[in-house]
Amino acid sequence: MEPGVEPTCPKLLLGKYQLGRLLGRGAYAKVYHARSLEDDMGVAIKVIDRSKVAGTTMEPRILREVSVMRRLSHPNIVKLHEVMATKSKIYMVMEHAKGGELFTQISRDGPLTEPVARRYFQQLVSAVHYCHSKGVTHRDIKPQNILLDHEGNLKVSDFGLSALPELLRDGLLHTSCGTPAFTAPEVVRRKGYDGAKADAWSCGIILYLLLAGYLPFNEANIAVMYQKMYLRDFEFPCWISKSAQRVISRLLDPNPQNRITIEELIRISWFKRSLQSNQASFDLSPHEDLLNTCKAPEEVKFDPIETAQTMNAFDIISLSSGLDLSGLFEGAVKRAKRFTSMESTEKILKRLEDLGAALGYKVDRKKGVVLVKQQLILSVSILEVALPLLLVEVKVIGDNGAEFEELFQGELKSQLEDLVFEWQKDYF
Ligand code: ADP
Ligand code: MG
Repeated sequence: MEPGVEPTCPKLLLGKYQLGRLLGRGAYAKVYHARSLEDDMGVAIKVIDRSKVAGTTMEPRILREVSVMRRLSHPNIVKLHEVMATKSKIYMVMEHAKGGELFTQISRDGPLTEPVARRYFQQLVSAVHYCHSKGVTHRDIKPQNILLDHEGNLKVSDFGLSALPELLRDGLLHTSCGTPAFTAPEVVRRKGYDGAKADAWSCGIILYLLLAGYLPFNEANIAVMYQKMYLRDFEFPCWISKSAQRVISRLLDPNPQNRITIEELIRISWFKRSLQSNQASFDLSPHEDLLNTCKAPEEVKFDPIETAQTMNAFDIISLSSGLDLSGLFEGAVKRAKRFTSMESTEKILKRLEDLGAALGYKVDRKKGVVLVKQQLILSVSILEVALPLLLVEVKVIGDNGAEFEELFQGELKSQLEDLVFEWQKDYF
């Protein structure tokens, strides 16, 4: 994310902090630089608009983030100094990671040398291992959430999706979340999953990205991407050493049972190998000599930031109509309307059923919720893409696209509008 996108607007915050430039934007917050009037310390302040989150399931996410960050203290995790709130805003005052997002560097300079990549990877894994020892899994380890401080030390941020032990049923997590390109396949399958194993997967993706400069799985169609993950359908660029490739392969094992755990990872020799003394101050230059000696595959794009942002589940599902999501559903889609919602599955189904009944449709839940009226058959699918966000699809079976469009514009649209996720309302 480009820092300083918005013009500087010096503003005093609750008489304590001088608010500065915009550092970054997340799924539900903006993060600004600020200076403490007390001790002149530079901080980062995450500002959350309460009106946007009140009453939604985002609220518990924020509370979770605050409570998680409060109980963590580790050199590679962004520290939370204090939390303040007014009627309309929540302010999380955090340690400022001056170096910005690690991957801004990678998208600018290309892949890292193995010793440098390993150093960052060690710091990341150290933070993740510490979280797990405190019963916290992060669940959204991705480039935008990996920051650097002024000394080039890695800092993990954004615990909005992290899970505390209270959320565990039968020892497994049951909410699906994260960002597709970085999220383990079992998370999206919505069966219970082990959050620590899912974090290990994301660490594997990050290590690949550090060494290759691009993502191992990178598809506009999420269904195709997950298929590739299951089939281990990815290749290494030739400059990644065999031993590093082995580590990545063991982390990117689609079967969580066989995937190497963080505990095992920190004991293998490749991981433990430390930097040579003359590399104590990081050499961040790209892997130029190696890049020159072996040709990168044609499709290589040194643009992980672009990709990562395109692949944010919230962005894709809520805002984008250009991406092909049809692969998420079985069968060919003739005419369909899709929207995202933060409401419960039951509420959405009930609304569609009531609406259908009022319009003379017969409702059949046994066949997976279909509404039938003479030749017109509508089928409803609801997918938990990134809980609490649901993707709802109403599609017509057969060739009655024109009738469906008429029905949608006539009745469906106005009756469903209030269920549509806030950010997508303009696109519905
Ligand atoms: P969200 O939970 O909405 O995704 P994040 O906490 O990830 O929000 O913050 C959004 C962006 O703001 C990050 O990707 C990063 O660029 C920037 N940012 C967040 N925290 C800090 C920090 N402590 N120091 C510097 N930049 C930060
Ligand atoms: Mg984030």
